[in-house]
Amino acid sequence: MNDSVRWHRDTLGEKVVKALTKNNFTATYVQNRQEAAAMLLELIPPDATIGFGGSVTLNELAIIPQLEERGNPVGNYMKPGLSPQEVKAIRRQHLLADVYLSGTNAVTLDGELVNVDATGNRVGPMLYGPEKVFIVVGINKIVKDVAEAQSRVKLWASPPNNKRLGYPNPCAQTGVCVDCQGPTRICNITTIMHKKPRLTDVHVIVVGEELGL
Ligand code: SF4
Repeated sequence: MNDSVRWHRDTLGEKVVKALTKNNFTATYVQNRQEAAAMLLELIPPDATIGFGGSVTLNELAIIPQLEERGNPVGNYMKPGLSPQEVKAIRRQHLLADVYLSGTNAVTLDGELVNVDATGNRVGPMLYGPEKVFIVVGINKIVKDVAEAQSRVKLWASPPNNKRLGYPNPCAQTGVCVDCQGPTRICNITTIMHKKPRLTDVHVIVVGEELGL
């Protein structure tokens, strides 16, 4: 990475951290995924129960296997062989986890977090329930404002997520949103965290490299 790109990422990252802090979040900027994963491993107690939302960013940090390996009880609803009832039960337990981990679809320059969800199991525990929430966001998800965040989701996040998850929605063929109306649509809920939820301790880690979708 050349110096001007490094400078730009660091400057944008620090700017967003400042805005998030103004919005009452705890926020930290780190330059890369290794630093982000190390920070999470340091801040999460080794006996804390863990919930997490589906996230390419978390996959890229490989944080869930590391937490499992060191002994944290992880509510891993992605383990192969689980029945739909078992998946639902684990997701419900996430609401009572000590620590909940998630990515986010976008963060604005004003420090707002925007997410679009299909089921609500990802955004629900981000807002209320767990003792502590960590949200990891790559530099590619910084946007100007909420309108740009919503455009980003429809153009850059949802179509590849549909493809990744094998959903038969039209954007998985066209690459762009056509505002589908069928039962497999994944854009059902939009949350905007203008400020930190009153009773939830949320720490946002902004990472100076591209992560997630
Ligand atoms: S509304 Fe439908 S077509 Fe549009 S991005 Fe979401 S799932 Fe794809």
